[in-house]
Amino acid sequence: MSAIDDLPPLRDVLRKHDLIPKKALGQNFLLDLNLTARIARAGGRLAGVTVVEVGPGPGGLTRALLAEGAAKVVAIEKDHRAIAALDEIAARYPGRLEIVEGDALEVDMARLAGDGPARIIANLPYNVATPLLTGWVGAAQWPPFWDGLTLMFQREVAERIVAGPGDDAYGRLGVLCGWRCEARIAFDVGPQAFTPPPKVTSSVVRLTPRPDPLPCSVKALETVTQAAFGQRRKMLRQSLKSLGDAAALLEAAGLEPTRRAEEIPVDGFVALANAWEAARKTSA
Ligand code: SAM
Repeated sequence: MSAIDDLPPLRDVLRKHDLIPKKALGQNFLLDLNLTARIARAGGRLAGVTVVEVGPGPGGLTRALLAEGAAKVVAIEKDHRAIAALDEIAARYPGRLEIVEGDALEVDMARLAGDGPARIIANLPYNVATPLLTGWVGAAQWPPFWDGLTLMFQREVAERIVAGPGDDAYGRLGVLCGWRCEARIAFDVGPQAFTPPPKVTSSVVRLTPRPDPLPCSVKALETVTQAAFGQRRKMLRQSLKSLGDAAALLEAAGLEPTRRAEEIPVDGFVALANAWEAARKTSA
Protein backbone atom coordinates (compact mmCIF):
# COMPACT_ATOMS: atom_id res chain seq x y z
CA MET A 1 0.00 0.00 0.00
CA SER A 2 1.29 3.49 -0.76
CA ALA A 3 2.10 5.99 2.02
CA ILE A 4 -0.75 8.27 3.09
CA ASP A 5 1.58 11.31 3.19
CA ASP A 6 5.23 12.32 2.90
CA LEU A 7 5.77 12.90 6.62
CA PRO A 8 8.22 10.65 8.52
CA PRO A 9 7.18 7.21 9.88
CA LEU A 10 5.60 7.45 13.33
CA ARG A 11 8.39 5.46 15.00
CA ASP A 12 10.81 8.18 13.90
CA VAL A 13 8.42 10.84 15.23
CA LEU A 14 8.32 9.13 18.66
CA ARG A 15 12.12 8.96 18.73
CA LYS A 16 12.69 12.52 17.54
CA HIS A 17 10.34 14.01 20.13
CA ASP A 18 11.23 11.57 22.88
CA LEU A 19 7.59 10.48 23.17
CA ILE A 20 7.95 7.59 25.58
CA PRO A 21 4.34 6.45 26.24
CA LYS A 22 2.98 7.43 29.66
CA LYS A 23 0.45 5.13 31.29
CA ALA A 24 -1.12 7.92 33.35
CA LEU A 25 -2.18 9.62 30.10
CA GLY A 26 -3.63 6.42 28.61
CA GLN A 27 -0.99 6.51 25.89
CA ASN A 28 -1.29 3.49 23.60
CA PHE A 29 -0.22 4.81 20.23
CA LEU A 30 -1.23 3.54 16.80
CA LEU A 31 1.80 3.61 14.52
CA ASP A 32 0.30 1.88 11.46
CA LEU A 33 -0.99 4.59 9.13
CA ASN A 34 -3.06 2.08 7.16
CA LEU A 35 -4.95 1.26 10.34
CA THR A 36 -5.44 4.92 11.25
CA ALA A 37 -6.73 5.50 7.69
CA ARG A 38 -9.25 2.70 8.26
CA ILE A 39 -10.46 4.38 11.45
CA ALA A 40 -10.71 7.73 9.66
CA ARG A 41 -12.78 6.11 6.88
CA ALA A 42 -15.10 4.50 9.47
CA GLY A 43 -16.06 8.10 10.31
CA GLY A 44 -17.71 8.50 6.88
CA ARG A 45 -16.94 11.04 4.16
CA LEU A 46 -14.88 13.83 5.67
CA ALA A 47 -15.00 16.42 2.87
CA GLY A 48 -16.31 19.72 4.24
CA VAL A 49 -16.31 18.38 7.80
CA THR A 50 -14.46 19.73 10.85
CA VAL A 51 -13.17 16.79 12.87
CA VAL A 52 -12.55 17.17 16.60
CA GLU A 53 -9.88 14.69 17.68
CA VAL A 54 -9.19 14.05 21.36
CA GLY A 55 -5.66 12.96 22.19
CA PRO A 56 -3.79 13.10 18.85
CA GLY A 57 -0.50 12.10 20.52
CA PRO A 58 2.16 11.71 17.81
CA GLY A 59 -0.54 12.26 15.19
CA GLY A 60 -1.11 8.95 13.37
CA LEU A 61 -4.89 9.36 13.28
CA THR A 62 -4.56 13.13 12.74
CA ARG A 63 -2.54 12.50 9.58
CA ALA A 64 -5.11 9.99 8.33
CA LEU A 65 -8.00 12.41 8.97
CA LEU A 66 -6.22 15.12 6.98
CA ALA A 67 -5.19 12.74 4.19
CA GLU A 68 -8.80 11.47 3.99
CA GLY A 69 -9.92 15.03 3.25
CA ALA A 70 -11.25 16.54 6.51
CA ALA A 71 -11.70 20.28 5.91
CA LYS A 72 -10.16 20.92 9.30
CA VAL A 73 -8.99 18.94 12.32
CA VAL A 74 -9.13 20.44 15.81
CA ALA A 75 -6.82 18.26 17.90
CA ILE A 76 -6.96 18.53 21.71
CA GLU A 77 -3.90 17.11 23.46
CA LYS A 78 -2.97 17.22 27.14
CA ASP A 79 0.65 16.09 26.76
CA HIS A 80 2.91 19.05 26.04
CA ARG A 81 5.59 16.70 24.64
CA ALA A 82 3.35 15.90 21.62
CA ILE A 83 2.79 19.50 20.53
CA ALA A 84 6.05 19.87 18.57
CA ALA A 85 5.28 16.66 16.64
CA LEU A 86 1.81 17.97 15.84
CA ASP A 87 3.24 21.32 14.71
CA GLU A 88 5.10 19.44 11.96
CA ILE A 89 1.80 17.99 10.69
CA ALA A 90 0.20 21.45 10.82
CA ALA A 91 3.03 22.79 8.63
CA ARG A 92 2.37 20.01 6.07
CA TYR A 93 -1.37 20.90 5.93
CA PRO A 94 -1.46 24.72 6.18
CA GLY A 95 -4.59 26.12 7.81
CA ARG A 96 -6.19 22.70 8.32
CA LEU A 97 -4.87 21.58 11.71
CA GLU A 98 -5.65 23.53 14.87
CA ILE A 99 -3.74 22.22 17.88
CA VAL A 100 -5.26 22.88 21.29
CA GLU A 101 -3.08 22.05 24.27
CA GLY A 102 -5.43 21.21 27.14
CA ASP A 103 -7.67 18.75 28.91
CA ALA A 104 -10.50 17.46 26.71
CA LEU A 105 -12.76 17.23 29.76
CA GLU A 106 -12.46 20.97 30.25
CA VAL A 107 -12.37 22.61 26.83
CA ASP A 108 -15.49 23.93 25.06
CA MET A 109 -15.56 21.57 22.08
CA ALA A 110 -18.72 22.99 20.52
CA ARG A 111 -17.04 26.38 20.29
CA LEU A 112 -13.80 24.90 18.92
CA ALA A 113 -15.74 22.96 16.28
CA GLY A 114 -17.21 26.18 14.82
CA ASP A 115 -20.44 26.46 12.87
CA GLY A 116 -20.20 23.94 10.02
CA PRO A 117 -20.69 20.14 10.09
CA ALA A 118 -18.56 18.58 12.82
CA ARG A 119 -17.65 15.05 13.83
CA ILE A 120 -15.64 13.57 16.68
CA ILE A 121 -13.12 10.88 15.75
CA ALA A 122 -10.56 9.64 18.26
CA ASN A 123 -8.49 6.85 19.71
CA LEU A 124 -9.50 7.84 23.21
CA PRO A 125 -7.31 7.76 26.32
CA TYR A 126 -8.98 4.88 28.17
CA ASN A 127 -8.92 6.66 31.54
CA VAL A 128 -11.28 9.43 30.41
CA ALA A 129 -13.10 7.64 27.56
CA THR A 130 -16.40 6.98 29.39
CA PRO A 131 -16.80 10.48 30.93
CA LEU A 132 -16.08 12.01 27.52
CA LEU A 133 -18.69 9.79 25.87
CA THR A 134 -21.39 10.47 28.47
CA GLY A 135 -20.64 14.20 28.15
CA TRP A 136 -21.18 14.05 24.38
CA VAL A 137 -24.24 11.80 24.41
CA GLY A 138 -25.77 13.33 27.54
CA ALA A 139 -25.31 16.93 26.34
CA ALA A 140 -27.89 19.52 27.40
CA GLN A 141 -28.26 20.67 23.80
CA TRP A 142 -29.78 18.22 21.30
CA PRO A 143 -29.23 17.69 18.41
CA PRO A 144 -25.57 18.06 19.38
CA PHE A 145 -22.86 20.03 17.58
CA TRP A 146 -21.53 16.80 16.04
CA ASP A 147 -23.16 14.55 13.43
CA GLY A 148 -21.27 11.40 14.41
CA LEU A 149 -18.82 9.88 16.88
CA THR A 150 -16.20 7.36 15.76
CA LEU A 151 -14.28 6.27 18.82
CA MET A 152 -11.87 3.59 19.97
CA PHE A 153 -12.71 1.94 23.31
CA GLN A 154 -11.70 -1.17 25.14
CA ARG A 155 -13.90 -3.95 23.73
CA GLU A 156 -15.66 -4.41 27.07
CA VAL A 157 -16.75 -0.73 27.09
CA ALA A 158 -17.77 -0.94 23.40
CA GLU A 159 -20.05 -3.86 24.26
CA ARG A 160 -21.71 -1.83 27.02
CA ILE A 161 -22.30 1.05 24.60
CA VAL A 162 -24.11 -1.05 21.98
CA ALA A 163 -25.90 -3.42 24.39
CA GLY A 164 -29.68 -3.78 24.50
CA PRO A 165 -32.15 -5.60 26.81
CA GLY A 166 -31.14 -9.19 27.51
CA ASP A 167 -27.45 -8.61 26.76
CA ASP A 168 -25.07 -9.24 29.66
CA ALA A 169 -23.44 -5.86 29.01
CA TYR A 170 -26.74 -3.93 29.08
CA GLY A 171 -26.72 -1.16 31.67
CA ARG A 172 -26.75 2.61 32.19
CA LEU A 173 -24.38 3.33 29.32
CA GLY A 174 -26.43 1.25 26.84
CA VAL A 175 -29.64 3.04 27.86
CA LEU A 176 -28.12 6.52 27.52
CA CYS A 177 -26.47 5.74 24.17
CA GLY A 178 -29.48 3.83 22.83
CA TRP A 179 -31.83 6.64 23.79
CA ARG A 180 -30.01 9.34 21.86
CA CYS A 181 -27.94 7.49 19.26
CA GLU A 182 -27.74 4.50 17.02
CA ALA A 183 -24.58 2.72 18.06
CA ARG A 184 -22.66 -0.13 16.45
CA ILE A 185 -19.23 -1.70 16.66
CA ALA A 186 -17.41 -1.06 13.37
CA PHE A 187 -14.42 -3.39 13.92
CA ASP A 188 -12.03 -4.76 16.55
CA VAL A 189 -8.37 -3.87 16.90
CA GLY A 190 -6.02 -6.35 18.58
CA PRO A 191 -3.53 -5.33 21.30
CA GLN A 192 -0.52 -5.72 19.00
CA ALA A 193 -1.64 -2.76 16.88
CA PHE A 194 -0.77 -0.41 19.77
CA THR A 195 2.52 0.80 21.23
CA PRO A 196 2.69 -0.33 23.98
CA PRO A 197 0.09 -3.11 23.56
CA PRO A 198 -2.75 -2.88 26.12
CA LYS A 199 -3.91 -6.06 27.89
CA VAL A 200 -7.26 -6.20 26.08
CA THR A 201 -8.81 -6.04 22.62
CA SER A 202 -10.19 -2.67 21.51
CA SER A 203 -13.11 -1.77 19.24
CA VAL A 204 -14.01 1.15 17.04
CA VAL A 205 -17.58 2.26 17.78
CA ARG A 206 -19.73 4.45 15.56
CA LEU A 207 -22.55 6.49 17.11
CA THR A 208 -25.02 8.50 15.03
CA PRO A 209 -27.30 10.95 16.85
CA ARG A 210 -31.04 10.33 16.62
CA PRO A 211 -32.70 13.52 15.34
CA ASP A 212 -35.65 13.25 17.75
CA PRO A 213 -35.05 10.96 20.73
CA LEU A 214 -38.05 10.49 23.05
CA PRO A 215 -38.41 13.58 25.27
CA CYS A 216 -36.80 13.05 28.67
CA SER A 217 -34.39 14.82 31.01
CA VAL A 218 -30.87 13.40 31.09
CA LYS A 219 -30.75 13.79 34.86
CA ALA A 220 -34.00 11.88 35.37
CA LEU A 221 -32.84 9.08 33.07
CA GLU A 222 -29.53 8.85 34.93
CA THR A 223 -31.35 8.75 38.29
CA VAL A 224 -33.70 5.92 37.37
CA THR A 225 -31.09 3.83 35.55
CA GLN A 226 -28.68 4.21 38.47
CA ALA A 227 -31.32 2.90 40.87
CA ALA A 228 -32.52 0.12 38.55
CA PHE A 229 -29.10 -1.19 37.47
CA GLY A 230 -27.62 -0.71 40.95
CA GLN A 231 -29.51 -3.93 41.71
CA ARG A 232 -29.88 -5.27 38.20
CA ARG A 233 -31.10 -8.74 39.06
CA LYS A 234 -33.72 -7.62 41.59
CA MET A 235 -37.30 -6.92 40.59
CA LEU A 236 -37.99 -3.26 39.87
CA ARG A 237 -40.45 -2.96 42.76
CA GLN A 238 -37.44 -3.63 45.00
CA SER A 239 -34.61 -1.86 43.15
CA LEU A 240 -36.58 1.39 42.72
CA LYS A 241 -37.43 1.78 46.42
CA SER A 242 -34.73 4.42 46.80
CA LEU A 243 -36.74 6.64 44.41
CA GLY A 244 -39.86 6.76 46.63
CA ASP A 245 -43.15 4.98 45.88
CA ALA A 246 -41.80 2.34 43.49
CA ALA A 247 -45.21 0.78 42.83
CA ALA A 248 -46.73 4.13 41.81
CA LEU A 249 -43.78 4.99 39.58
CA LEU A 250 -43.96 1.63 37.83
CA GLU A 251 -47.67 1.94 37.29
CA ALA A 252 -47.30 5.45 35.87
CA ALA A 253 -44.58 4.16 33.53
CA GLY A 254 -46.65 1.14 32.48
CA LEU A 255 -44.02 -1.35 33.69
CA GLU A 256 -44.64 -4.65 35.47
CA PRO A 257 -43.26 -4.44 39.05
CA THR A 258 -41.84 -7.96 38.76
CA ARG A 259 -39.60 -7.17 35.79
CA ARG A 260 -35.86 -6.59 36.13
CA ALA A 261 -33.69 -3.73 34.85
CA GLU A 262 -31.82 -5.95 32.42
CA GLU A 263 -35.07 -6.73 30.54
CA ILE A 264 -36.40 -3.18 30.15
CA PRO A 265 -35.95 -1.51 26.76
CA VAL A 266 -34.87 2.12 26.42
CA ASP A 267 -38.43 3.45 25.99
CA GLY A 268 -39.39 1.78 29.29
CA PHE A 269 -36.62 3.68 31.09
CA VAL A 270 -37.67 6.91 29.41
CA ALA A 271 -41.25 6.37 30.66
CA LEU A 272 -39.89 5.66 34.14
CA ALA A 273 -37.70 8.78 34.08
CA ASN A 274 -40.67 10.92 33.05
CA ALA A 275 -42.84 9.36 35.78
CA TRP A 276 -40.13 10.08 38.39
CA GLU A 277 -39.78 13.66 37.20
CA ALA A 278 -43.57 14.19 37.32
CA ALA A 279 -43.80 12.69 40.84
CA ARG A 280 -40.99 14.94 42.02
CA LYS A 281 -42.70 18.04 40.65
CA THR A 282 -46.01 17.09 42.30
CA SER A 283 -44.38 16.55 45.69
CA ALA A 284 -42.29 19.77 45.50
N1 SAM B 1 -4.33 9.41 18.74
C1 SAM B 1 -3.06 8.81 19.10
C2 SAM B 1 -2.93 7.47 18.43
O1 SAM B 1 -3.96 6.93 18.01
O2 SAM B 1 -1.82 6.96 18.36
C3 SAM B 1 -2.91 8.67 20.61
C4 SAM B 1 -4.01 7.91 21.31
S1 SAM B 1 -3.67 7.57 23.00
C5 SAM B 1 -4.74 6.19 23.25
C6 SAM B 1 -4.53 8.82 23.91
C7 SAM B 1 -4.02 10.26 23.78
O3 SAM B 1 -4.83 11.12 24.58
C8 SAM B 1 -2.59 10.48 24.27
O4 SAM B 1 -1.90 11.23 23.33
C9 SAM B 1 -2.76 11.27 25.58
O5 SAM B 1 -1.66 12.13 25.86
C10 SAM B 1 -4.02 12.03 25.31
N2 SAM B 1 -4.78 12.42 26.51
C11 SAM B 1 -4.88 11.76 27.69
N3 SAM B 1 -5.74 12.39 28.52
C12 SAM B 1 -6.19 13.48 27.85
C13 SAM B 1 -7.09 14.52 28.16
N4 SAM B 1 -7.73 14.56 29.35
N5 SAM B 1 -7.32 15.48 27.26
C14 SAM B 1 -6.69 15.45 26.04
N6 SAM B 1 -5.83 14.48 25.69
C15 SAM B 1 -5.58 13.50 26.57
